[in-house]
Amino acid sequence: MNSSTEIKINFSGRAIRYTEEEIAVVVDAMRHADPLTQGAFMREFERKFAVYQGVPEGSCFTTMNGCAALEMSAQLCRFRPGDEVVIPSHTFTASAYPYLKKGARLVWADIDPQSRVVTAASIERVLTPKTRAVVVVHLYGYVADMPAIMALCRERGILCIEDAAQAIGAELDGRKAGSFGDMGIFSFHSHKNMTTLGEGGMLYVADPALAAVIPALRHNGHCAYAFERPDYWKPAMGNVDVPMLDGDLLLPNNFCLGEVECALGAKLLDRIDQINDEKRQRALRFIDALADFPQLGFHRVESRRHNYHLLAARMTTGPEQRDAFIRTMFHEKGVKCVVQYIPLDRYDFYRRFGLSEANCPHADAFFDSMVSFPFQHWLSEEEFDHMLAATRETLANLG
Ligand SMILES: *Cc1c(COP(=O)(O)O)cnc(C)c1O
Repeated sequence: MNSSTEIKINFSGRAIRYTEEEIAVVVDAMRHADPLTQGAFMREFERKFAVYQGVPEGSCFTTMNGCAALEMSAQLCRFRPGDEVVIPSHTFTASAYPYLKKGARLVWADIDPQSRVVTAASIERVLTPKTRAVVVVHLYGYVADMPAIMALCRERGILCIEDAAQAIGAELDGRKAGSFGDMGIFSFHSHKNMTTLGEGGMLYVADPALAAVIPALRHNGHCAYAFERPDYWKPAMGNVDVPMLDGDLLLPNNFCLGEVECALGAKLLDRIDQINDEKRQRALRFIDALADFPQLGFHRVESRRHNYHLLAARMTTGPEQRDAFIRTMFHEKGVKCVVQYIPLDRYDFYRRFGLSEANCPHADAFFDSMVSFPFQHWLSEEEFDHMLAATRETLANLG
């Protein structure tokens, strides 16, 4: 950075600020929650979340983060040797490695160049007789074409898991992201449009028989004894077991979310639509104000199908111009843009597992030219206007 320039707009690790009311809810839970985990606030958050999602009560389960929800969704798939899971190559690593850990072979699907998410066609291209499940990631906050994807999965007898970590509140045909598939996962990490003090997650499981195992799977296999106990302390304080699924043994975890976080999560559901709407309004304002610069290709969506968790664009003039843009924005304008979601097949980690093969030209092309703008909800109007003016000036000077 030039000595004369300071960083004015950081790519913040924190997406939202809390209202005084939300802080009061946290303080109240700190004072009164008993126990501090697995209590009434958890049940209330799960109930309210199910209502928000328009899914049956008893199908949503809080977890300590989105990754923990993905781990349990992978367990519920009960992979057999050779089973494959289709996953977009353009996503965050946590969408993928839980399935690798549980024994599946990952197969990369390409994205649509316009929407930057997978389509029924891009999934179908990589299906084989061994495909057991598909993970659909609503990346950047945009809901993939779930009706077509679910039709494909049903026709082929394939499980569908929606990674809605970035898409809370986004909807398609009046249905919420994460409510179409067999399972849905959500994240309330610090970066997301709704965060429960930095970590938090939710798992939605449509099949009640699968959902029934989650409480024990989530919490050390703890459950009640099935028989009447005349002495409450015998044979032990509680039982340890996880119901078997079609003869499959499942190993438990401890993936619980604390009561304070749950109290806050339930409260934030009252404001998430407003947060999303405000982000979308801003995104549209930014995109429209740059309409005379075709160098930046945005994905413009006016409806609630996009919650604009992130504001991403493709530099249509190529990777070198992209780098020049980010460099100038940072060094001369004090605006820190970033580049996100290197296709997973390009990481050494996945290569070491023999997963370097991908036929995903759109994912590669998008990633190599993409720019992600700082887009935390709490940017002031002044900061936002500065970012817009800086973007216009930088693009004009790039020639
Ligand atoms: C954030 C994120 C996750 C993981 O969520 P955590 O709560 O951080 O574990 C998974 N998938 C995607 C697409 C994400 O953006």
